[in-house]
Formats: sequence, C-alpha cells, structure tokens
Amino acid sequence: MKSVTYKENSLTGKLLCSIFGHRFVTTKYVTDHFKEFECRTCHLQVTNDLSGHKVSLTQEHREINEALVNLYQRRHSHI
Ligand SMILES: [Zn+2]
Repeated sequence: MKSVTYKENSLTGKLLCSIFGHRFVTTKYVTDHFKEFECRTCHLQVTNDLSGHKVSLTQEHREINEALVNLYQRRHSHI
C-alpha cells in the first residue's frame, strides 16, 4: 500500500513540477561551480554542466563530481 502511495505522490510531484518548475535544493557541494541538486517536489537529481546549465545527474556525472571533489580537496589541503 505504501509503495502505491509513494508512486502517486511522485506522479503528483512531476505534474506540479511540469506546471510550476522544479524546486531545487543543493544536496552536494562539489566546487564553486559544480554542485548537485535535488528537486524537493519530484526528487529529480541534477548537476551543473560546464556552461552552468542543469543536466540530469547520471552515473558518469556522479563519478566526475567525485573526482572533482577529490582534486579540489587535495589542492586546498596543500595551502
Ligand atoms: Zn521537480
């Protein structure tokens, strides 16, 4: 029963987002330019591309962001 309710909520969320647009919150801070976001309504996960546009968060993007986090932290830990 609960999974059915969740599905209905998710569908409602997607409908709301298609009308009002997504309500993104930052879920992960990668660098000054790269962040990961999640929509509070439909739970769509996105990230920034190089131009600063929001693109859907694929496994490839996750791995790139992980690598960026490591590079960024390593660079800053030297200072
Ligand atoms: Zn949404």
